[in-house]
Amino acid sequence: MLKTQLLQWLIDVGVSDIVSETSDNIIEEKEIIPQLNISTLVELRQVVANVDIPMKDCAINMVFGTGNENADILLLGEAPGAEEDKQGLPFVGKSGQLLDKVLESVGLDRTKVYITNILPWRPPGNRTPTNDEILLFRPYVLKHIELINPKIVVCLGGTAAKALLQTTEGIMKLRGRWLTVNGINAKVFATFHPAYLLRSPGQKREAWRDFLTITSEATR
Ligand code: URA
Repeated sequence: MLKTQLLQWLIDVGVSDIVSETSDNIIEEKEIIPQLNISTLVELRQVVANVDIPMKDCAINMVFGTGNENADILLLGEAPGAEEDKQGLPFVGKSGQLLDKVLESVGLDRTKVYITNILPWRPPGNRTPTNDEILLFRPYVLKHIELINPKIVVCLGGTAAKALLQTTEGIMKLRGRWLTVNGINAKVFATFHPAYLLRSPGQKREAWRDFLTITSEATR
């Protein structure tokens, strides 16, 4: 999507603020915070399903979110993979199996957390989401978080962390500490994506430490 189309779309959904402009008068999309007039998850699901984006034509199912809608902890992944696309549920493939083990190791399971992704559709060929795609869905991700109203949002991996925090800093710098995001009441924490842990099992210990920090904060 072109920048101008994206901006027009953001304006159509109710942009309330343009915080800054560059010296070239090019509006920086990342600073625009649309106010969405949506008050339930059912409504949000419907609106997200109707977002016009080519990637949905290549997907089987939309993956919205799952788990405990009253959870203190919301886990935010990147985008559905092949298995998630088939089942319409987040983290049900190999990464999800590892995520379940990490959760279990700190006394959590899917009935105690809520899980969603930055993107609700599987990017064709499992490619990384583009910035435009991230910016298109970010207002809905913020609304999703607002409706669940968790104490803690855990970004799983660099793409989710960068998208939520609107930063270019990598996961190695962002992970393992408490962060804040404009427009989100919850404390934000970034840790490794389970797919990365499958490739780099030596980092599982660090991920486990991260989840101990998260659960200890959640029960404070
Ligand atoms: N990876 C993600 O980031 N999200 C999923 O739902 C599955 C795999």
